Amino acid sequence: MSNVKIPDPDFAQSIIDAGGKTLDLCYQCGTCTGSCPSGRTTAFRTRQLIRKAQLGLKDDILPSEDLWMCTTCYSCVERCPRDVDIVDIIILMRNMAVQKGYMAEDHKKVGRSLLKTGHTVPASDKLKQLRVSMGLSADPPTTLADPQAMADFKKIMAKTGFEKLIGGA
Ligand code: SF4
Ligand code: SF4
Repeated sequence: MSNVKIPDPDFAQSIIDAGGKTLDLCYQCGTCTGSCPSGRTTAFRTRQLIRKAQLGLKDDILPSEDLWMCTTCYSCVERCPRDVDIVDIIILMRNMAVQKGYMAEDHKKVGRSLLKTGHTVPASDKLKQLRVSMGLSADPPTTLADPQAMADFKKIMAKTGFEKLIGGA
């Protein structure tokens, strides 16, 4: 069986058209990979992902775990000598992946928390205790303490089809 990857000639252009105009500026120096904290503990290589995007290796990128390894810390963006909008390009490709039904399980969990509470990171009991000890209400004045805001938020989420994109609540 062949391992040859078939490029999609329109893929790089679709990233550029969606806002990743700096994709072509990358000259593969590898500074991003050397700056990446995720790459220190995983097989994720930022430079390689950007190169695959330039080459149109869509079928390699969209289902891959690598696409979800970036923590969006922006170390690479700060250091890139070509001012490539690396994180924006990764997020654009994630959006494309989600539309095709691919999303890392940990990101789905964050999405479920958002749907349930309006927060990506739920308020823990410890945080609530800390707030009370400081003379504050246990819940912050957000969707957690405002049923109308939560209802409005859920309406917006329903309109976007977010629940379907994360594979159900
Ligand atoms: S640092 Fe910038 S130019 Fe260098 S490989 Fe990464 S994206 Fe390309
Ligand atoms: S923003 Fe993402 S790709 Fe860039 S250094 Fe941070 S984790 Fe790595």
